[in-house]
Amino acid sequence: MNIPDSNLPRIVIIGGGFGGLRLARALKGKPFQVILLDKHNYHTFQPLLYQVATAGIEPDSIGYPLRKIFEGQKDFFFRLAEVQHIDAQLKQVDTSIGSLKYDKLILATGSGTNFFGNNELEANAMSMKSIPEALDIRSLLLQNFEQALLTKDLDERQALMNVVIVGAGPTGVELAGALSELRKHILPKDYPDLDVRRMEVHLIESAPQVLAAMSDESSKDALAGLEELDVLVWLDTFVESYDGKKAITKDGKEFLAHTLIWAAGVKGETVEGIQPTAIVRGNRIAVNQFNEVLEMNDVFAIGDVAAMIDEANPRGHAMVAQVAIQQGERLAKNFILESKKKDRVPFVYNDLGSMATIGRNKAVVDLPKKHFKGIFAWMVWLFVHIMQLVGFRNKLLVLMNWTYSYFRYARDTRLIIRPFKKKISDDIPQPS
Ligand SMILES: Cc1cc2nc3c(=O)[nH]c(=O)nc-3n(C[C@H](O)[C@H](O)[C@H](O)COP(=O)(O)OP(=O)(O)OC[C@H]3O[C@@H](n4cnc5c(N)ncnc54)[C@H](O)[C@@H]3O)c2cc1C
Repeated sequence: MNIPDSNLPRIVIIGGGFGGLRLARALKGKPFQVILLDKHNYHTFQPLLYQVATAGIEPDSIGYPLRKIFEGQKDFFFRLAEVQHIDAQLKQVDTSIGSLKYDKLILATGSGTNFFGNNELEANAMSMKSIPEALDIRSLLLQNFEQALLTKDLDERQALMNVVIVGAGPTGVELAGALSELRKHILPKDYPDLDVRRMEVHLIESAPQVLAAMSDESSKDALAGLEELDVLVWLDTFVESYDGKKAITKDGKEFLAHTLIWAAGVKGETVEGIQPTAIVRGNRIAVNQFNEVLEMNDVFAIGDVAAMIDEANPRGHAMVAQVAIQQGERLAKNFILESKKKDRVPFVYNDLGSMATIGRNKAVVDLPKKHFKGIFAWMVWLFVHIMQLVGFRNKLLVLMNWTYSYFRYARDTRLIIRPFKKKISDDIPQPS
């Protein structure tokens, strides 16, 4: 990998997401050699993926080059590599570009989409965990509309316009709201020959409420907001199968839609070589309060992939950005304390609250002791998301985009950029 030997202890971090990034930054100027490995050369701001998928913002404004973030950081090295295996005996990681020794290893690999073993769903549903996936959703939606224009079969036309979203957590709710705004303000202008009002946006949730992890007030307010936007919400409904055109639920409901977006589950992205007894529910890695992987020396896990199970969190902490950020920060401080032969401090999560937007001027915010909604909540949502984006350029781009879109009712990145899975012409009857 062409990384020079050093007298400094070597800390290898797998993953430049929220947790890995914070950890590596907090080690700047400290007595360690820090090596960050990621299979992408950029950091992804996942909370705004849904805006890329619905043509609200450009993909470049939610990705940031990792090399740029660490420009000039001494004793720091980034390598574009996928880690495939950990050898805890040899204290080595095996990657797509070779092997590398570590003194301390941190898994900050995040999570992937969980289809709970349903292969049919996995093959036919769209997921939204990365920028390419969000772009793929955008392209599919638009391709389906182009195709709807061409078909004479009315049921087929309807199915091409319909969208089913499975999972009414923040991702599902935000997507449904954004799609409904696309249907109201944009698509009728783009496709005047289609009766876009007939497009159905279905949000299907197996729990009895939307935003189940938030307060009851937020769930109720979000549901009311979605209904105002004509999103068809199906609670207590479990999607069992989807063949690419029809979703069927456990209680026999059928939904015809050529787009189904799966936002109903995530699982930890572990790497081979982790002690099997440390892998717990949701494919996460069990860690103690110092983020040490159970039964492994000098191996740590932070963020989505880590399950810090205690009495207050029997399933581990929520898989949200703040947990990853705070664990990255705490772990860096503990490495520094250790290097000074001082006692480490156990991780304690400081819950800053949660929020979701339903659409224009509509959001819900839960602070530890307060709930609010409406335009003020929406402005708080906008502000928090802008501030959390990495890099001044991205902050500025998103702010400009949102301001322009707000006043012009615009969603101007409606480009189909996709290596076609199949040619549109495959489905169009050709003149004989
Ligand atoms: C659509 C969506 C919306 C969300 N909205 C919110 C929100 O509004 N608020 C909130 O708090 N949270 C939100 N989240 C969750 C939040 O994004 C995650 O909790 C957070 O990203 C976890 O950070 P992390 O550092 O653990 O992992 P990630 O940020 O996922 O980073 C993991 C990194 O590891 C890399 N990686 C993985 N495996 C390997 C490997 N084998 N080799 C090399 N590199 C690897 C990946 O490329 C990635 O860069 C959302 C998530 C999604 C998908």
